[in-house]
Amino acid sequence: MTTLVWFRQDLRLADNPALAAAVARGAIVPVYILDDTSGVRAIGAAGRWWLHHSLTALSKSLGGLVLRRGDPSTVLAALVSETGATRVVWNRCYEPEAIARDTAIKTALTASGIEVESFNGSLLFEPWELKTLTGGPYKVYSPFWRACLKLPVSAPVSAPKLKPTLHGAKSDPLASWTLLPKQPNWAAAFAPEWTPGETGARARLETFFVGGLAGYGELRNRPDLPNISRLSPHLHWGEISPRQIWAATHMRIETSTSPRGDADKFLSEIGWREFAHHLLFHFPTLPTRNWKPAFDAYPWSDDKAQLVAWQKGQTGYPIVDAGMRELWATGYMHNRVRMIVASFLIKHLRIDWRQGEAWFWDTLLDADLANNAASWQWVAGCGADAAPYFRIFNPMEQGRKFDPNGDYVRRWCPEIARLPNTVLHAPFEAPAEILRACGVSLGKTYPRPIVDHATARQAALAGYGAVKAAGAEAADTVGQKR
Ligand code: FAD
Repeated sequence: MTTLVWFRQDLRLADNPALAAAVARGAIVPVYILDDTSGVRAIGAAGRWWLHHSLTALSKSLGGLVLRRGDPSTVLAALVSETGATRVVWNRCYEPEAIARDTAIKTALTASGIEVESFNGSLLFEPWELKTLTGGPYKVYSPFWRACLKLPVSAPVSAPKLKPTLHGAKSDPLASWTLLPKQPNWAAAFAPEWTPGETGARARLETFFVGGLAGYGELRNRPDLPNISRLSPHLHWGEISPRQIWAATHMRIETSTSPRGDADKFLSEIGWREFAHHLLFHFPTLPTRNWKPAFDAYPWSDDKAQLVAWQKGQTGYPIVDAGMRELWATGYMHNRVRMIVASFLIKHLRIDWRQGEAWFWDTLLDADLANNAASWQWVAGCGADAAPYFRIFNPMEQGRKFDPNGDYVRRWCPEIARLPNTVLHAPFEAPAEILRACGVSLGKTYPRPIVDHATARQAALAGYGAVKAAGAEAADTVGQKR
């Protein structure tokens, strides 16, 4: 029997249930389809860079991979007839458009006599496995994760022994997809930071275990320290599975002396990923509509110049600018800083969270529909189990608290690096002689704040008044499928 293995967000050999099931029954033809046409959200620019390198790595470890571009239903039907395959398998994706696409493909292939099977390769638990006592989906993280912790996690499966035979199926040259930027090559700084592919993912986990896990519980909030895993792009592209992370972390707990609390905290972040996917599955409009409908009344600003200043890291608030510049240069931003910059866009600039979500989608290497939408809605206060809208981050205080020595800001905002710590997070409060002595000229070498913090805070709270009037706290309309 020949099986087509359709790779999607599972670009790995180990713990890949679809691949293992295919190999167990005979010959396989591995295929990746660049799907820009079927209605799933097109991969962002940074994601395309990652995909290019991840496919290169996957093809090498498989010993061959068929690359095709187009509507997957047409491509798969063509490949079935070209290779004589009688079975098609894949690991499930949970984006609403992907579910609709895959369901239609399954129906069509089955009707033409092809066996189709799908598997769970990217979550610890299927989103429909977890139900509240009343039988509905969870809307609050803590009880969700407590319920998860009561369920057994299946052990990861090993990489199968492979002998792929492409059965003469032709492949597009990867270069013809032009996934990499050329002029300008804005991704030049990505390569030294990242190693896309399964081997890179495993090395990243090991590095984290050795140098980041101890202290993770507290220090993960510090963008100047190495106490985070940076596994998010690897997880998004499925180069490592949460089951593998779960098993490796538990093994680590048994064999190391570091406090158990750090490992539990790390796994609970994997839990946030599960929760985001649970939410997206049950509330498919999460990426586009306010989860709390009362937020539809919020009077968003349409100030394009302020949006561009935010995107370019030119707001005059160093911790915000450092984060936005880190994102542009490396395709990544630390979680604490993501929260700060998102809060600044939504609350200080009163720009719709969807504009921020779209920018992150295009610039993050880990851009993920579930995690991104759930997180933006969380910061905006309109999401499930969200931070209250009226809790408005003070960017100067956040900077002082989470980048106390200024190392993070100095790295990404070199033009103010000579400022002393006392004023680094608020250069506009520095005496003129200090600015002069440190070579800083506000409005010339570094921007003046594009909004005044206190005034912006008041405006944000005034805007929230409209939401309150529209019944933000009215629980009966919250989180309806719409
Ligand atoms: P660690 O701290 O090492 O955590 C391990 C893993 O847990 C992460 O790789 C990630 O898969 C998961 N995780 C951690 N925090 C969260 C969270 N809050 N929600 C969901 N999963 C989480 N994460 C993405 O993967 N893709 C996105 O597009 C994305 N957009 C975000 C947008 C905003 C506005 C905010 C505030 C957060 C966003 N996050 C997103 C969540 C989080 O910032 C990143 O997952 C995390 O910074 C990745 O770094 P890490 O791998 O070192 O995380």
